[in-house]
Amino acid sequence: MPPLKVAVVGCGTAGPAAAILLRRLGHEVTVYERAPACAAVGAGFLLQPTGMAVLRELGILDRVLSRAARITRLHVVEPDESTLLDLSYQELDPGLFGAGLHRPVLLDALLASLRDASVPVHWGVEVIDAEKRGSAWFLKSRHSDQESGPFDLVIIADGARSSLRRLVSTRGVNRGYPWGAHWFIGENRGAFPENTLYQIVRGTRRLSGYLATGTDSENGPPLVSLFWSVRIDQDADWRSRPLDEWKQEVLSLCPRAAPLLEQIQSWDQITLARYGDVRMPSWQGEGIVVLGDAGHAMSPQLGQGVNLALADASELAACIASADALPPALRRYARRRAPHLRFYQIATRWLTPWFQSDHEWLSPLRRIFFTICRHLPPARRFMTLTMAGLVFAGKSRLPRANSESCESGSR
Ligand SMILES: Cc1cc2nc3c(=O)[nH]c(=O)nc-3n(C[C@H](O)[C@H](O)[C@H](O)COP(=O)(O)OP(=O)(O)OC[C@H]3O[C@@H](n4cnc5c(N)ncnc54)[C@H](O)[C@@H]3O)c2cc1C
Repeated sequence: MPPLKVAVVGCGTAGPAAAILLRRLGHEVTVYERAPACAAVGAGFLLQPTGMAVLRELGILDRVLSRAARITRLHVVEPDESTLLDLSYQELDPGLFGAGLHRPVLLDALLASLRDASVPVHWGVEVIDAEKRGSAWFLKSRHSDQESGPFDLVIIADGARSSLRRLVSTRGVNRGYPWGAHWFIGENRGAFPENTLYQIVRGTRRLSGYLATGTDSENGPPLVSLFWSVRIDQDADWRSRPLDEWKQEVLSLCPRAAPLLEQIQSWDQITLARYGDVRMPSWQGEGIVVLGDAGHAMSPQLGQGVNLALADASELAACIASADALPPALRRYARRRAPHLRFYQIATRWLTPWFQSDHEWLSPLRRIFFTICRHLPPARRFMTLTMAGLVFAGKSRLPRANSESCESGSR
């Protein structure tokens, strides 16, 4: 394929990853980002082996893992500390693990790689529309009369609240969940194990999660991310009440969170995360493709969003590298990503009400279901594969390759 002129809208996860990989294939890539400057906001997150495989491809895995907490276990308990779920990556491969990360660590590494690849990023440019004339795309941005273009390919990677996915399809689903989370990142101070994503659940209305999140600077203290399940329509009510009432509620479910809660003095330190469910009939059109949350946002119950966004970028670059024209490359991309993405969309939609909903009656069923699954080795293995992001992930993202780099890269 001759060199393409590519516009990438969004510099979160999928956007920069796709830009770097396409630039390395010799294409001319420009990134447009609405934020005025590089600013990664967001809770800590769990990078799965599938995401690590893409970071290895990008050449930034060791850099990212040097700041990560090495997560080997997902442990979910009920208030009496009885185990509901206990999954270990090592069941799949002794070298396998997840990486608890502070979001800026990943973004910094992606931006450094963008600079090395000489990809220009236009900060503070909100793309509001795109128009196709002949075979070329032109972008329109807010506060500017000038169009950008022509482009052979537009990559829409503008996140869960995408305003541009409509350029590919106006059909599909875009629905917010009634439940989200309060989250906070603070110093761990030995309160939670450094190798575990620990969660406590009471019924389906109370969930508190603690993810070891690595560090955000060299020699910085170990961090932990707190997630507290909350109904979106109750957020304002919570914030009108004294912070101590919220802290007491968290402590009543998880007393060991005290050293973390001591670090919170104001509601401003607690952020509300909203979740949504985005489904599209297709992720590609003529000279245009949707990557990441813009095309398939989901609730973070399975912790896959960043990983799926990275896998999208990798697959797109692979399809473009192996095709001699753009249309078949984009069709192949959508075909090849469908099993992985559709599986995680369905699994997440199925799982979410068991942990975040008003359906309290699900909770005894949940106990029975997970007890059976924990004691049935094939079921436990399938749940672990699902957690690791590996179901229908494709050969290039299998654990063997990942465990090699795990040995060299992690703390
Ligand atoms: C509380 C919470 C916890 C999570 N935990 C995990 C986890 O443990 N593991 C995991 O893998 N995922 C997790 N996720 C999901 C993950 O954060 C997302 O799936 C991931 O960031 C998606 O990447 P993206 O590149 O598609 O979008 P984003 O990272 O949202 O990036 C989109 C970018 O586009 C920019 N933009 C938007 N509109 C425009 C425009 N019109 N013009 C120009 N730029 C624009 C935005 O400013 C942004 O920088 C979590 C999400 C939440 C909310």
